[in-house]
Amino acid sequence: MYQSSYAQRGQGPVAPRGESSVSVIGAGIAGAWQALLFAQAGRAVTLHERSGATMTESTSYWAGGMLAPWCEAETSEPVISRLGIRSLDLWREHFPHTSFNGSLVVAHPRDRADFERFARLTTGHRRLDARALSELEPSLDGRFRDGLFYADEGHVEPRRVLPDLHERFAAAGGTIKFNSEATPDDIDGIVIDCRGLAARDTQPGLRGVKGEIILIETDEVELSRPVRLIHPRWPLYVIPRGGNRFMLGATSIESEDNGVSVRSALELLGAAYAVHPAFAEARIVEFGSGLRPAFPDNLPRIAIDNQKIAVNGLYRHGFLLAPALAELTLGYVQRGVIDNEVMQCA
Ligand SMILES: Cc1cc2nc3c(=O)[nH]c(=O)nc-3n(C[C@H](O)[C@H](O)[C@H](O)COP(=O)(O)OP(=O)(O)OC[C@H]3O[C@@H](n4cnc5c(N)ncnc54)[C@H](O)[C@@H]3O)c2cc1C
Repeated sequence: MYQSSYAQRGQGPVAPRGESSVSVIGAGIAGAWQALLFAQAGRAVTLHERSGATMTESTSYWAGGMLAPWCEAETSEPVISRLGIRSLDLWREHFPHTSFNGSLVVAHPRDRADFERFARLTTGHRRLDARALSELEPSLDGRFRDGLFYADEGHVEPRRVLPDLHERFAAAGGTIKFNSEATPDDIDGIVIDCRGLAARDTQPGLRGVKGEIILIETDEVELSRPVRLIHPRWPLYVIPRGGNRFMLGATSIESEDNGVSVRSALELLGAAYAVHPAFAEARIVEFGSGLRPAFPDNLPRIAIDNQKIAVNGLYRHGFLLAPALAELTLGYVQRGVIDNEVMQCA
């Protein structure tokens, strides 16, 4: 359950109730979910996106799309699990075809201690021996002595789900404007600012944390779910995409340049090879990187200043958290409910 309270006249901010129109700025995963839930609640919503419909300018375009609140608990605070688990329900409710095949964590013998640590710091998993592992993922037969299976986790393909969200929003009566650069202060009514890293003009604490990825293609390996490989520096993973493609991700670097370094490429490709040697013959389709928008504490924030609401700092959990954050924003606007853990009122 959310920790929440109700704004009361004279004791805190009064929610902008009524039927005012809503403008959402930024059609990445945060803005797309906000726009969808507000439109479905009967509001007149316009969604402004400065780039074209391909969304290549957004961080969301580069993401893994894992919906993994239990695995992420290894490095994140309880609020991420709380909102993440609620988001899984919303993904299921709004996108019933979302893949909920779980996720796997495996390790090579040299990383055994880190594997055990991962198991200790997380819940929601069961241990699989080598046989159970190969029954679940036949391609991994003989590769690992055991694994951790997080059965309730899911994943989406960002480059498919973003257009789906935009379409669903339009079907709910919303208006989406691509190639439309907007500024919160220039728009009347309720404005929900989801500009990601571009919102630094109003949220100076934001920084970008670079994540590099490689997309490869092979028909030699089949996987039905994301496989995380314990790694001393980064949680590296292989995520199956459609069309025999696999995403290898992701580094996490305190840098805002958008290149992919040789070192990162070697580590990502090495991780794939460690999961299955047949990946060595795969074709490289794409290298790329995105900047995760993060506040200094790496936690998401809904900042409320009367009719201007900013939803940002989704860091490495945008796909995991966006539905729950949209539900919270809607709850605030419609009913004045405040979530003390993520909302900040001016
Ligand atoms: C490599 C990598 C892997 C990741 N993997 C995962 C994962 O597995 N699971 C997970 O949950 N998260 C993951 N993330 C994190 C996730 O991608 C981010 O948290 C999320 O994309 C942030 O979404 P956003 O909507 O806040 O920002 P963005 O996606 O950047 O969207 C902001 C949008 O605002 C638009 N915009 C900016 N300024 C304006 C303006 N003035 N007017 C109009 N539009 C504007 C931009 O063009 C952009 O489209 C990953 C990130 C990276 C980089």
